[in-house]
Amino acid sequence: MYISEKAKSISPSTTLAIDAKFKQMKADGIDVVGFGAGEPDFDTPQYIKDAAIKAINEGKTKYTPAAGTVELRKAICKKLKDENGLDYTFDQIVVSNGAKHSLVNAFQAILNPGDEVIIPAPFWVSYPEMVKLADGVPVILQTTEEDEFKFTAEAFKAAINDKTRALVLNSPSNPTGMVYTKEELSAIAKVAIENNIYVISDEIYEHLVYEGEVTSIAAICPEMKDLTIIINGVSKTYAMTGWRIGYSAAPAPIAKVMSNIQSHATSNPNSIAQAATVAALSGGQDEIAVMKKAFRERRDYMVERINAIEGVSCLKPQGAFYVLMNISALKGRYIGDTLIGSSDDFANALLERAKVALVPCSGFGNDNFVRWSYATSMENIKEGIDRVENFIKLTH
Ligand code: PMP
Ligand code: GLU
Repeated sequence: MYISEKAKSISPSTTLAIDAKFKQMKADGIDVVGFGAGEPDFDTPQYIKDAAIKAINEGKTKYTPAAGTVELRKAICKKLKDENGLDYTFDQIVVSNGAKHSLVNAFQAILNPGDEVIIPAPFWVSYPEMVKLADGVPVILQTTEEDEFKFTAEAFKAAINDKTRALVLNSPSNPTGMVYTKEELSAIAKVAIENNIYVISDEIYEHLVYEGEVTSIAAICPEMKDLTIIINGVSKTYAMTGWRIGYSAAPAPIAKVMSNIQSHATSNPNSIAQAATVAALSGGQDEIAVMKKAFRERRDYMVERINAIEGVSCLKPQGAFYVLMNISALKGRYIGDTLIGSSDDFANALLERAKVALVPCSGFGNDNFVRWSYATSMENIKEGIDRVENFIKLTH
């Protein structure tokens, strides 16, 4: 069958593949514990659901402008002003079908064939594939655990050449959980401005920070704001993964082309979910505080337990809801007669024998790690870690 070279070069999403496998095992009655897709276990707050029901009853069931309703885009501008100190007008905002879709639109808008995009590793699995979909070339910038998985302005500068068009910045990061300080962002911004490089700033975990402050790189200075495409959404903060609403804030000419692209690909995102998002952004933040407190407790417990297991270790993440577990000391060991040669081997054997789903970081640009998500109950976390501990004891 004829399939394009581009389509053939795209790998499936590991996070979603693990999650699908976990959900299928569960549906088959298998006692499996899942830490795959980063999806809050909390339900969407009631006031948001009520707004959606009201929207249906009021007939907000028609097409909206492709970039989203003016009401929602104005609510997003207010959020950006109040929380990030940033001034945007509603024509600079494009609402999409999840932040994933906003990212896809952004790369389509700024890349010509062969343009390079710098992606610091470990990275969220979808970034390189999105760049490839837009005919761009992902350039991986490795970071180390010793440097808390953060790249320096010098390393960024060294990775730039004539073809470099953009940098992907994800703070707090999926999968590392690390957060860049204002000083680090200022140094990165200086390099971006000097070399006229766009920064795709994925801020979807901005509300999930447990230590320190989070800053948007767009807030560093006006010149940086003119080079930044902010990506955000309601999936993580408001436990709204299934509603599929994300958004971007960008210089007006970029927002215009992103909207044009979207108008042909999907038209507007769901009108009811848009109305619910207005309520989410404008509503009380009490539920968010409750979820954040729970995430923090789970993180603390998980980090302590992992570091007490012989053969593995992890850093304490400052944000998001992921922990990267270093399994490099287990590579070369066996479980039964199966060799653990890679993070995939570890994750497959763990799922098969101990019925625990973790994400191998081969798809995240560093094969020495597997990713846990602590967006699941404390009970699951305890059970999962007990199983992993016993599994590792059996390796030889
Ligand atoms: N960016 C990052 C870093 C993520 O982890 C996710 C998770 N899905 C997304 C973007 C996309 O989120 P969504 O499409 O659900 O808004
Ligand atoms: N972003 C989440 C994760 O990394 C959800 C799954 C996905 O979209 O990749 O697990």
